[in-house]
Amino acid sequence: MSSDSSATVSVSDAAPAVAPVSSKWLSEDRIGSVEVLEVFGSDLTVVNAARVSFAKHVDEMTTRDEGLIRFLAKHDHISPFFHPQVRLRIKMPIFVAREWFRHTIGLARNEVSRRYVDSDPELWAPSVEGLRERDPKLKQGSKDTPIEGAEAVVEEMRGWNDRALAYYKELLERKVAPEIARAVLPQGMYTEFIETGSLAAYARIWQLRTDPGAQREIQAYARAIEALLMPHFPVSWKALTTNHD
Ligand SMILES: Cc1cc2nc3c(=O)[nH]c(=O)nc-3n(C[C@H](O)[C@H](O)[C@H](O)COP(=O)(O)OP(=O)(O)OC[C@H]3O[C@@H](n4cnc5c(N)ncnc54)[C@H](O)[C@@H]3O)c2cc1C
Repeated sequence: MSSDSSATVSVSDAAPAVAPVSSKWLSEDRIGSVEVLEVFGSDLTVVNAARVSFAKHVDEMTTRDEGLIRFLAKHDHISPFFHPQVRLRIKMPIFVAREWFRHTIGLARNEVSRRYVDSDPELWAPSVEGLRERDPKLKQGSKDTPIEGAEAVVEEMRGWNDRALAYYKELLERKVAPEIARAVLPQGMYTEFIETGSLAAYARIWQLRTDPGAQREIQAYARAIEALLMPHFPVSWKALTTNHD
């Protein structure tokens, strides 16, 4: 299991088949988060979805069942992995959510609306180490190292955030509707949503978004998903995220 050093994950030891489970990951700035609200199913759900073809049902996992899960994943028999599901509460900056929301199949979402909510938005800013330099060799990437003078630039970025927030609040005071006033808020504003998704969908997100070509900020969320889901579906998660080539 890969881990993010900035992450705080507290996962329960027990992995019940259907249960509300309290486990939460926090991002480096302690604002972003992924919280498991509910878990539906287990590795056994995958096994029984596959075994129904032969009108078979098992109540306990055996090594044979583990082999079946690995076989299904290896040969892309993906539908049994649609049945286990999790419901998450996710908080991430809008620029990350725009990428996250591109993943659609097997996922349902409901998001906070800034048409109705006008509480103070929380705004993301990079850490000093996170103020990465553009990499001329990669079309969509960045270097691992921060730019020169990063500390001062991060302070400036925070200043711009504070100004945007102050102007947003001023617009509200001048009776501008929240749905209009929000236009001055930056892409780094945090948004929050409930997401229900299948194990297969999350494994696909993990595959695409832990790739070194993915933006580092979304990589952290993809790794959080792994840390939170792995304890509930250890055999299936490993099978789905192993390169069988
Ligand atoms: C590193 C990286 C960079 C990216 N850069 C860009 C970018 O610059 N611009 C941009 O617009 N997007 C970009 N994307 C987003 C990318 O194009 C996908 O939209 C995103 O990764 C979700 O892909 P998905 O296949 O998991 O989508 P999902 O919608 O979750 O689909 C899952 C699977 O369902 C099937 N499927 C979905 N829709 C259809 C359909 N209509 N017909 C047939 N089969 C379907 C496919 O097998 C698909 O893989 C980027 C993604 C990554 C990982």
